[in-house]
Amino acid sequence: MDGTSGRVMADRYFVAHPIGGGRVTLDGPEGHHLAHVMRAKAGMEVVLFDGSGTEFLAQVLSVRRSAAELEVVARREVDRESAVTLTLGVSLPKGDRQKWLVEKVVELGLRRLVPLMTSRSVAQAGADAVKRLDRAVIEASKQCGRNRLMTVDAPQSWPDFVAATRGVSCRLLAHPDVTGAGASLPSAAPQQVVAAVGPEGGFAEQEVEEAIVAGWQTVSLGPRILRVETAAVVLATWATTNYRATP
Ligand code: SAH
Repeated sequence: MDGTSGRVMADRYFVAHPIGGGRVTLDGPEGHHLAHVMRAKAGMEVVLFDGSGTEFLAQVLSVRRSAAELEVVARREVDRESAVTLTLGVSLPKGDRQKWLVEKVVELGLRRLVPLMTSRSVAQAGADAVKRLDRAVIEASKQCGRNRLMTVDAPQSWPDFVAATRGVSCRLLAHPDVTGAGASLPSAAPQQVVAAVGPEGGFAEQEVEEAIVAGWQTVSLGPRILRVETAAVVLATWATTNYRATP
């Protein structure tokens, strides 16, 4: 591994407390991974990140059964965040598709995911589910080089989400429009965007109305019906690849 070129994506470990430099103990699942799975030896170099935006080059000092002691040797400010701050409200799909969604939107730079409770939502993201999703956020961040963790909020009801996002000027509600007459995504994303994806059963008409009254814009993502996770990926891709700074 080359510790200076920045090509060190595969050997990143997340530390759940702020790293201040000096010595760091890596335990829990991350310590297990380094000590047990990677069979770390003293002298090995890895990258640590704590979610604050900075990453640290560190050297393994000693290895125990499921933990390791490391010494920070360099601090690097590397910004791999998207220029667009996107908050996405999603009525989450079930099981593996939920985890897949989280993994992809982390890679695409989503800043904040808000599980939505709508009238047709099926899967409720309970405290355990949010915890599992937080783990998926860490795994994806390790893999893609992100140094800031995407936030997964506690589930919010649709009216609460609409009320909480009132201050944001760009609010987009993904809503299938089979007539083909619906507005499509704007060609450029502003710096701050809030978007929402409904459940497999779709948003209820009254929920769409509620959003429109509050100033949301409905957008069509094309003439085919996408799965919830596909719609989330389309919105995150659009936001991450179409930023234009407003003059
Ligand atoms: N049966 C539902 C489809 C739900 S698809 C209906 O006909 O309304 C799940 C969610 O994905 C939708 O609520 C919407 O937010 C999003 N979505 C899927 N396909 C879309 C499309 N073509 N355009 C806009 N949003 C779409």
